[in-house]
Amino acid sequence: MTARLVSGDLVRCDHGGMSRNGIYITERDGMAVVKLDSGYNIGVIPGSCTVIGHPEPAPGRNLDVVQDSKLPNLSIVSTGGTIASRIDYRTGSVTSQFNASDILLAIPELAEIANYRTIPLATILSENMTPAIWQDLARTVHDEIRGGAQGIIVTHGTDTMAYSAAALSFMIDTPVPIVFVGSQRSADRPSSDNAMNAVCAAAAATSDLGEVAVVMHATTSDDVCSIHRGTRVRKMHTSRRDAFRSLGISPIGGIEFPSRKVTLGPAAVRRGTNSLALRDKMEPHCALVQFYPGMFPDVLKAYEGYEGLVISGTGLGHVSTALIPGLARLIHEGTMVVMTSQCMNGRVCDRVYDTGRDLLAAGVIEAGDTLPEAALVKLMWVLGNENNREKAAALMQRDLRGECMRRSAYGL
Ligand code: GLU
Repeated sequence: MTARLVSGDLVRCDHGGMSRNGIYITERDGMAVVKLDSGYNIGVIPGSCTVIGHPEPAPGRNLDVVQDSKLPNLSIVSTGGTIASRIDYRTGSVTSQFNASDILLAIPELAEIANYRTIPLATILSENMTPAIWQDLARTVHDEIRGGAQGIIVTHGTDTMAYSAAALSFMIDTPVPIVFVGSQRSADRPSSDNAMNAVCAAAAATSDLGEVAVVMHATTSDDVCSIHRGTRVRKMHTSRRDAFRSLGISPIGGIEFPSRKVTLGPAAVRRGTNSLALRDKMEPHCALVQFYPGMFPDVLKAYEGYEGLVISGTGLGHVSTALIPGLARLIHEGTMVVMTSQCMNGRVCDRVYDTGRDLLAAGVIEAGDTLPEAALVKLMWVLGNENNREKAAALMQRDLRGECMRRSAYGL
């Protein structure tokens, strides 16, 4: 009779005429999920696996020491999300329980790419991210770079990764890559994207890149990851592994897998272009509201007293005529109101239609082709750092980190 498998057991599984060794993780849908030495998971019939040993105890392993002086030094800052999650056996749900060291242990291939310092900053699902945690993150990343890190990997939940990547894009001038990475499917699932995404992130973090980026699967296969600019990326699918897309521009680079060959496009900012600087002030009393037909003007009352309000308007940047007096009142009372578009491509232009002209007359600021989520974190950052409202408004219309391009690519 086959012995009952326990999580962590070293097993040999005979499957499809092949014998493969790995670590037993869990049973799901009647299949044993086994992590192979390569870091990938397979699902096999439990009876096909035999226990061949138990894992070495972890103590004594010091991940902070230099492992190979020929390899570059990276820092992994973990914040939580699916990439750092495992099944909570009490509830059956996925929770963020791993930290950066666990990720390193789970994906041995990472050790071929770099030496790592691991900094567990948070273990949250990214819907619980806040501007205060962005500040912590920015300070931590800044200190790691100042301390000699040649690249940074931030592991993060995918839901709000684009907001955090945009926030760090504004808060840090970086000479080295700051790479956000997550996974759509947790490590215990045979189709998990966590190992490949992490390996791609490490390759990007050791590359010639010199800006904040998001690295995730580019296709549904395990063949290439895309490098997206931190201010121009959005999660476009709830569950697909290739959920992340650049909007308004092409990805700034890619990583082939498994060769780990990194290609950077001409638009990518190169390593060493910028000197390190931190501007970590944020004004958290800013909001993002999506306009919809029939929106009652009294919705705007909720934003009285806010320092900033980004509107995700229709088309070229519109709201209904009924809302304009309420917006004018907010602006008069000191709220900076910024217009973006629900369209995922193109720029706002409020000079074409009456409602647009009325919005401009009320004092609404156009944010070009800035994505609504990037405009929100930019507004928090601008209002946190610039007290002069005219200068702040000018900054919202100016491109600082590729978020507000002078020309929007046609057809993207
Ligand atoms: N909602 C969680 C988060 O964003 C899990 C999703 C994920 O990591 O992909 O952190």
